[in-house]
Amino acid sequence: MSDATVRTRNHRVDLALLGIRGTPPVRRTAGAGPSDDGHLSIGGLGAALPRNPASPYVLEGDRVLFDGDDIGLDVAAIARPAFYDLTTDEGVPYEKLAKLHGIGVLASTVVQTCIRYEESQRCRFCSIEESLRSGATVAVKKPADLAAVAEAAVRLDGVTQMVLTTGTSAGRDRGALHLARCVRAVRAAVPDLPIQVQCEPPGDLATIQELYDAGARSIGIHVESLDDDVRRRWMPGKASVSLAEYRAAWAEAVRVFGRNQVSTYLLVGLGENPDELVAGARELIEMGVYPFVVPFRPHPGTLAVDVDGVGAPSAELLTDVSVRVAAALTEAGMLGADQQAGCAACGACSVLQTMGG
Ligand code: SF4
Repeated sequence: MSDATVRTRNHRVDLALLGIRGTPPVRRTAGAGPSDDGHLSIGGLGAALPRNPASPYVLEGDRVLFDGDDIGLDVAAIARPAFYDLTTDEGVPYEKLAKLHGIGVLASTVVQTCIRYEESQRCRFCSIEESLRSGATVAVKKPADLAAVAEAAVRLDGVTQMVLTTGTSAGRDRGALHLARCVRAVRAAVPDLPIQVQCEPPGDLATIQELYDAGARSIGIHVESLDDDVRRRWMPGKASVSLAEYRAAWAEAVRVFGRNQVSTYLLVGLGENPDELVAGARELIEMGVYPFVVPFRPHPGTLAVDVDGVGAPSAELLTDVSVRVAAALTEAGMLGADQQAGCAACGACSVLQTMGG
């Protein structure tokens, strides 16, 4: 590997962990999953970087400076999309309904509340309801509104894929059926837009077929950790859904959506043994499930930061795990870029694509 490649990889890892100072035109505050970040392209790949006023990295136009020096990365800030300036007939700004992520990804949380948000049950890294409280979004997105936003984002901003995620609802489907309704409406308006849905294992596995039939082409069923002790500590509510139930849902999703159109987040930095994390990722790959390895991102508004004071993992740990998982993915011929839509296809919250996965 050339010195320049190693330097780029090291900077990309540091940027994922330390973040940037500056105000990228496309950014998000609190929300589901990784958030509070700015969106750039680095070397042609999407990069969603934490916004951190204490970071040694500074974004200045299309350059990233370290100690005042340009670090020589091929960086471009993602421009604010034109669809953000539109509003629904009821006066809701499109920006409150869906966000631009990474390069050409339209993303929305269709239900911005979660039955697991009570403090004793909440995932300690999540701030899904904080963006609702701040007025940055609306609680439930109507399918017709999402369809209008998607149509505008494709027409005005060349969006190429869409991610629809949801907080968990109290119903047996855990929110998947509203996702299916949203997918149907968006596909009716923009039939060629690939959509990924993200949900917990729906109680009835037949719902996975319903999501596909509605028009979704990739699916994320996110477990975050395969270690039950870590799950109980970090996600007490979600840990009530057994790993056996996750495995059954992944297997059914691979049957319906196909190999490498199914993914799950695995977070680095929750205290899991790295060898076990990589072994778990290999098992997922064997099943046809893409392990989307992402560093735990500490941001205010989460219990992990506000109560536990947990910081980001070390660069060594993130590099070690990402390099090993990327190698296993390459060996299996399962690249994130081959997914039709979703986080693995986007890759901006992970360093896996930089490592070759
Ligand atoms: S990886 Fe997923 S959450 Fe991160 S920017 Fe891309 S689409 Fe958004």
